[in-house]
Amino acid sequence: MSEDDAVIWQDVLEEILAGRGGALACPHCNHSPLKVDNTTELTKISCSGCEAFIQGRFGGLN
Ligand SMILES: [Zn+2]
Repeated sequence: MSEDDAVIWQDVLEEILAGRGGALACPHCNHSPLKVDNTTELTKISCSGCEAFIQGRFGGLN
């Protein structure tokens, strides 16, 4: 992910890491809820509204 993405999604990531992922809204279009897919390798957080997503290895999720 780019540094811009990291900034845009930072609040969302922090909420998910804090265990409060259920009520999150997309930072691009404000669609809610976001879809969170955890695999052993990566976490992907995606929006079904505008199809924005971020994926990577985020501490504590994998
Ligand atoms: Zn969206």
